[in-house]
Amino acid sequence: MSISRRDFNKLLLAGTAGSAFGLFGISNTAFAARKRVVVIGGGFGGAATAKYLKKLDPTLSVTLIEPKAAFVTCPFSNWVLGGLKTMKDITHTYTALRNQYGVNVIADRAVAIDPVKNSVKLSSGKVIGYDRLVVSPGIDFKYDEIAGYSKKIADSSMPHAWQAGPQTVLLHKQLQAMKNGGTVVLCPPGNPFRCPPGPYERASLIAYYLKRHKPKSKIVILDAKEKFSKQGLFTKGWERLYPGMIEWRSSTGGGKVVGVDAKTMTVETELGAVKGEVINLIPSQKAGKIAFEAGLANEKGWCPIDPASFESTMHKGIHVIGDSCIAGAMPKSGFAASSQGKVTAAAIVNLLRGQEPISPSLVNTCYSLVGPNYGVSVAGVYRLSEAGIVEIPGSGGLTPVDATDDQLEQEALFADGWYTNICKDIWG
Ligand SMILES: Cc1cc2nc3c(=O)[nH]c(=O)nc-3n(C[C@H](O)[C@H](O)[C@H](O)COP(=O)(O)OP(=O)(O)OC[C@H]3O[C@@H](n4cnc5c(N)ncnc54)[C@H](O)[C@@H]3O)c2cc1C
Repeated sequence: MSISRRDFNKLLLAGTAGSAFGLFGISNTAFAARKRVVVIGGGFGGAATAKYLKKLDPTLSVTLIEPKAAFVTCPFSNWVLGGLKTMKDITHTYTALRNQYGVNVIADRAVAIDPVKNSVKLSSGKVIGYDRLVVSPGIDFKYDEIAGYSKKIADSSMPHAWQAGPQTVLLHKQLQAMKNGGTVVLCPPGNPFRCPPGPYERASLIAYYLKRHKPKSKIVILDAKEKFSKQGLFTKGWERLYPGMIEWRSSTGGGKVVGVDAKTMTVETELGAVKGEVINLIPSQKAGKIAFEAGLANEKGWCPIDPASFESTMHKGIHVIGDSCIAGAMPKSGFAASSQGKVTAAAIVNLLRGQEPISPSLVNTCYSLVGPNYGVSVAGVYRLSEAGIVEIPGSGGLTPVDATDDQLEQEALFADGWYTNICKDIWG
């Protein structure tokens, strides 16, 4: 039996309550030989896929490969910088996936994929075979596009903090150590990149911290772009909450970064140098390393897929989801990655049964906090078309620019609720 769109939607609505066992009338003996699905990456996309594969078909053998013992989410890492959450609040373990859902979680790194033999090699040397493979390794960085910049500099003095973890802690410490009257230089990359509104939420929450603790300080945003996500909403929020504190320079207005000097803490732009006590340079991005090494990425650095199943167009039997894949109109977000993970799980269950994947809708909502009681959001529903994944016109929406204080406060509450729910849905 295949999974229909109706069954799939029912499962999504069921949320975290119970498993799909029984929902589709699948028995443990449905398959003589257990089909093996291997998932690389235990973040938003990979962990959601692993869990929903087991929910949809508990008879599957699902192995999740993830080197980290616990996952620190990028969503809400800006809240940590603002002093509104702790690193502990945004850290999630794999205990429930392992114990409640029967996912075989292996704490290791995938170092090679053999698409002919259908196997994955781990850094321990172990080789694991699969019937279907899901690759959700997130992003990697193009360090070499900016003169003087490197991974070493990002790890030690100019953190990007665009993968939550030690660099988030470093950036937080740098902000706390900065003198009152210091300058924070924040450099967002060009499109496409992980979480389009993320740098501007970060500027907002750093401003929130500075306003309370170091009010003479300022933030200079040197942007590689001419415009940015939710620009009108952020700009209005900055004028209201942090007047005079945040200066944004567009790419042609002196924002394009061409080099850095870590010794003098200087950023070189096309129109001159800018010094900062804290420099948060977010480099351009590409698909996660393993996707390149496996030949899943194109010349632009991202992985082309068939949008109905997220199966790679480069290698059969391998599905690429999340930030690494080219998902048409969908932004590179955690919500999008988890939504893609659920669609992929359903597609794999059908494909393993010799059935066509269904083509359900995909969803995304991105909340951003401008201040603790000041939230803004953008939402969209997506469908498949001949042009790939497109947004259904009129399906989503943006917080109105003339939203009332009550509405903005509601959005901030929704953001908190969104985080709790999505984390429970994926890792809980
Ligand atoms: C500051 C910031 C704020 C954000 N806020 C939001 C938000 O509010 N809402 C939202 O929806 N999104 C937000 N995002 C975006 C979100 O974090 C990403 O889009 C999402 O994490 C992408 O999911 P993913 O599965 O592709 O990658 P990830 O979640 O990064 O997961 C990738 C995993 O793969 C593992 N991995 C990598 N290589 C290997 C390998 N070779 N072997 C095994 N494992 C491997 C990594 O260790 C990692 O755990 C934010 C991002 C940032 C930076």
